[in-house]
Amino acid sequence: MFTLPRFPRRLGTPSSRFKQWTANAAIGVVLGVVPPGATTIPQALAAPSAWPSDTLALRVPGPLSPRNASYRLTARLDEKAHEVKGQGTLIWRNLERKEASELSFNLYQNAFKHHATTFIREAGAQLRGDEMPEHGFGAIDLFSLKIGGVELISKAQVIDSVLKLKLDTPVGPGSAIEIEFSFTTKLPRTFARSGYSDDFHAVTQWFPKIGVFECDKSSEHCGFRIHQYHGFTEFFSDHGSYEVTVDVPEKFVVGATGIQIAEQKSEGRKKLTFRADDVRDFAWFADPKFVEYKNRVTDKLGDVEVRVLNRPGLGSLDLRHLQGVRAAIHEGEHRYFSYPYKNVTVIVPPRDSNGAGGMEYPTLITSFLSPMPDGVRIIESVDAHEFGHQWVPMMINSDEVEDAWLDEGLNQTFTGQAMDRLFPDGCSSIKVANFCLGDRDVDWMSARGVLRRMPLSTPSFRLSGRTYGAMTYAYTSLMMRSLENYLGPERMVQAMRHYAERYRFHKPRPADFMSAISEGAGEDLSWFWNQAVTTTRVADYEILQVDNQKHELAYGLWDCPPKPPMMPEHVEGAERVEWLRHLTESNQAACVGKPAGRHELSPPTDKEKKANAKDKGKDKQLWDSLVVVRRRGELIYPVDVVVKFEDGSQEQVSWSLAEQNAHPEERMRTVRFYRRAALERAEVDPQIKLALDEKRLNNGLLAKPNMRPVTRLFLTVQSWVQTALDLISL
Ligand SMILES: [Zn+2]
Repeated sequence: MFTLPRFPRRLGTPSSRFKQWTANAAIGVVLGVVPPGATTIPQALAAPSAWPSDTLALRVPGPLSPRNASYRLTARLDEKAHEVKGQGTLIWRNLERKEASELSFNLYQNAFKHHATTFIREAGAQLRGDEMPEHGFGAIDLFSLKIGGVELISKAQVIDSVLKLKLDTPVGPGSAIEIEFSFTTKLPRTFARSGYSDDFHAVTQWFPKIGVFECDKSSEHCGFRIHQYHGFTEFFSDHGSYEVTVDVPEKFVVGATGIQIAEQKSEGRKKLTFRADDVRDFAWFADPKFVEYKNRVTDKLGDVEVRVLNRPGLGSLDLRHLQGVRAAIHEGEHRYFSYPYKNVTVIVPPRDSNGAGGMEYPTLITSFLSPMPDGVRIIESVDAHEFGHQWVPMMINSDEVEDAWLDEGLNQTFTGQAMDRLFPDGCSSIKVANFCLGDRDVDWMSARGVLRRMPLSTPSFRLSGRTYGAMTYAYTSLMMRSLENYLGPERMVQAMRHYAERYRFHKPRPADFMSAISEGAGEDLSWFWNQAVTTTRVADYEILQVDNQKHELAYGLWDCPPKPPMMPEHVEGAERVEWLRHLTESNQAACVGKPAGRHELSPPTDKEKKANAKDKGKDKQLWDSLVVVRRRGELIYPVDVVVKFEDGSQEQVSWSLAEQNAHPEERMRTVRFYRRAALERAEVDPQIKLALDEKRLNNGLLAKPNMRPVTRLFLTVQSWVQTALDLISL
């Protein structure tokens, strides 16, 4: 069963106000509240048109979100000029306790207007290795911006990809206004998630999109949390309902956010109307060459309709797309909550438009056109990843510009989990013959290249290209795996579900995430967050030494008969036990057959040694062995050391968090053994629970022969690939 979301009392959106809004919406009235001191309010501002409160596109009763930024848009595609002419009405409601005296909108397509935009200056004219095509510029121009019927476009200030408009009449707390606008979006040649190539059109980030107005917790400082379209980061917006009519040539096939509710044809063109509720964006794709494949996935709420718009001749890959989506739907239901929407559309862009691939929009994702063989699991992986974004950040609405790790990072973790569900062989990235590569290995290779640069808590838009990608995706994923290995899978799921439940259709920040996970896990995890998120501490444990010494009695002067030995006070733990044993057995050996008094215990002569060897046999040899484990990195994490002896027996010793924290500067721990078999090898963290561990190769050591690094154990020898990875990245 799906339950309605619970809204935490924070960020100035008390539940009472949410209830009031939903009640207003339900009766079809959106009230404009006149702020104190305001003199003139245009009529339309006081009573903007109502938004229907039905839930056409949902599988559960709505509304699920405050729906405070709802759009009604019409868009006509000029398929020759690759432009979209649009008109729209936005009903925006101020959810905060303070009035808003200005409005801010994202004009994303202006990022591609010339080579001196924020986007191009930061990213260069490329993204993810995909070059911006020549003469492929894009832009969005606003011709009209009306509030209450009053034209305000001349007062609007456009800086790069952000538009600001000072209001004569502020929008009071709880008030809603209606904003009408008309615009033309010139699509770039496919680049950075949008654009066109021949008849293929990716109409994304295409309309003026209002930013998120918010106050700090004290309501002292309020404003729009809005940023330029940065070179690497993505988007952030409020939830709303969308009703969008797109006008395209009749032969075009359209894939869009939401569900189609109407179709009208005339003079070789058609108008399709789509409806989506409780979403934070709307994207659509049009191409006469799309080949449709339909199927469904069943989860606890019933069926989700899956529609793949594939390329001609690639129908054999439809099932792989379906599998990726199915794995994500089930994994998301397990880790977050059931996907509440009726459908999802998967778009496969043409080969020359991969720049529009691998992207997520509400109820719509874009995949890649992959020429790879089945064993290269990129289609499933991309689809599972993009579908995972339906939860973060589409529903659990984190800010992709400032806190991208809550979005891409958590979703990268999720992707690995969904892929492990689909491919339990552990080869979630590649399985070709004996070659096996899992997500964790790929993340590890990527993250280790950017350690010691910036803490994860850095605002994401301040990270540059490679650092952004590796930190946000790979590092976060390894961090979350390390945490899961500490908590155990059940507590991790419990913690993530707690976070998801609390913040769905709300806007969590990193502090919210970290405290929700601690709460859900039932343990204060600040020791972990304070290292892995807010510092650049690096994790690395190694086995420093493995030694065996043939055991000898303590030769020298002993008083007989033996008395209970007295131990020096400073000796503790295992060493005390071992020392005590050594004292006792040596004293007893010195006194065998001797009268009372002092006697010298001497090493055996060669003759005696030979006799002993005959008597006892080789297997009776006693060994004093030791293992030294060292915390080479700064990050403290509980680790196990597994030692194996030559007789095949093994033992596990823990170096606990409490022990390490008690003496944080003591970075070495020595463990001694006294056995009839010599030590063969020692491994610290053999299961690589600490996925963040920078150097895996130093996690193990053989006792002999001592030829480093050859004697280093290849701990990750689940396959030869893993070993190769270690060597490559030494
Ligand atoms: Zn992503």
